[in-house]
Amino acid sequence: MPQQFDLVQCMKQQGTHVGKVCSRCDGKCPMCESLVHPYKLVYICDDCSYGSFANKCILCGASGGKDGEQLTDAYYCYECCMQGKDRNGCPKILNMGSTRTDMYFQKRREKT
Ligand SMILES: [Zn+2]
Ligand SMILES: [Zn+2]
Ligand SMILES: [Zn+2]
Repeated sequence: MPQQFDLVQCMKQQGTHVGKVCSRCDGKCPMCESLVHPYKLVYICDDCSYGSFANKCILCGASGGKDGEQLTDAYYCYECCMQGKDRNGCPKILNMGSTRTDMYFQKRREKT
C-alpha cells in the first residue's frame, strides 16, 4: 500500500482530547501509518473533538459509538516521537471521503 503523504492533516494546536481510531486503523501511527512500535498517546485539537467530529476515527473518519466502529486510542510510533512529530499538532486527517478530494486525487494521478 502506498504511503499517503498527500493527505491534509489538521495540525492545529493539540488539546486535551485523545485521538481515536477504528478497528481497521487500530495500531496505525497517524503521521506515518507505521504499524510498529506504538509509543505515545495521540492528542487532537478541540475542533476535531467537538460535535460531529467527536467519536470518529482520526485516520479514515469512520464513526464510532453504539452502531458504528469500536474506537480505540491512537498512538504515535516510536520513530515519529523521536523526530518530534508528535508535537507537530493535531494529526487528524481532514480531506477524507469527500467527492472533492477524490477529484483532486484523480487530477493529480492524470498529471503524473
Ligand atoms: Zn509514525
Ligand atoms: Zn484538529
Ligand atoms: Zn479508521
